[in-house]
Amino acid sequence: MGYEVVVDQDKCIGCGECVDVCPADVYEIQDEKSVPVNMEECLGCESCIEVCEQEAITITEI
Ligand code: SF4
Ligand code: SF4
Repeated sequence: MGYEVVVDQDKCIGCGECVDVCPADVYEIQDEKSVPVNMEECLGCESCIEVCEQEAITITEI
């Protein structure tokens, strides 16, 4: 069991809030957008969803 982490690249403004809040270092900023580079480490805490004012992040249990 794990989580699929998707960042809508059209909505993301690269603010870095998700990078700062994620306890599992899932995100990395690449070309001013957040990319979920360590999706397999996601804990499903949804902290990133709470801080993303652009509502760009979707977490799905897989
Ligand atoms: S918090 Fe949202 S808008 Fe900010 S970098 Fe992360 S995904 Fe992009
Ligand atoms: S749900 Fe939690 S662990 Fe997963 S990417 Fe978001 S902040 Fe990181």
